[in-house]
Amino acid sequence: MREAGTSPDSYAGNLGYHVGDDPDNVDLWRGRLQDETGPLSWMSQVHGTTLVDAAPHVQEADGLLLGPGQGGAVMVADCVPLLLLGTGPVTRGAVVHVGRKGLLGGIATKAVHALRSAGATDVRAVIGPSICGSCYEVGEEVAAEAEKDLPGSASTTSWGTPSIDIPGTLVRLLEAEGVDVDLVEACTMEDERFFSHRRQKGRAGRFAGVLVLPG
Ligand SMILES: [Zn+2]
Repeated sequence: MREAGTSPDSYAGNLGYHVGDDPDNVDLWRGRLQDETGPLSWMSQVHGTTLVDAAPHVQEADGLLLGPGQGGAVMVADCVPLLLLGTGPVTRGAVVHVGRKGLLGGIATKAVHALRSAGATDVRAVIGPSICGSCYEVGEEVAAEAEKDLPGSASTTSWGTPSIDIPGTLVRLLEAEGVDVDLVEACTMEDERFFSHRRQKGRAGRFAGVLVLPG
């Protein structure tokens, strides 16, 4: 395995194999992360609404459901890394990838319902760093379509063009489900500590939202 730093600087810390980085470097960064967290389940994320039970192998999904002792990671670079912790008679968790399609497809509420039907009645959420409504520019028709499906989701960029407010809309959806929400107020496009698909023009690495449940 190579030493860290052999990737272009723009990929330092990258956790995604699918973004054009050297896979040996991804192995290294994932190894360092899992030295801290223990083994994590990973997904092949496709902007869908499929949730699966966490497993050691990579599954095509946009949400992993976690049981006691399990850990999972959701990779992002502008999309929302959503972490859900459900407690009550049983403890369950989920890591969920929420981009525009997942938001409109209802993956967040679907995950909340999955935790509750497993018996985890009291659900808390963390919405990690993602692109904000003042930066996530979309075409006029895309904004109008989002607004039709989820009223209040269309917004305006700081330069006056149509946008969608994914994290803001997610807060409202989750609160309507009775979920206690902690929003991390950081925009990936504005804050250079984070990878951003938009700011780095498609040559961005991926950072991850990680949740590990106690055994
Ligand atoms: Zn922003």
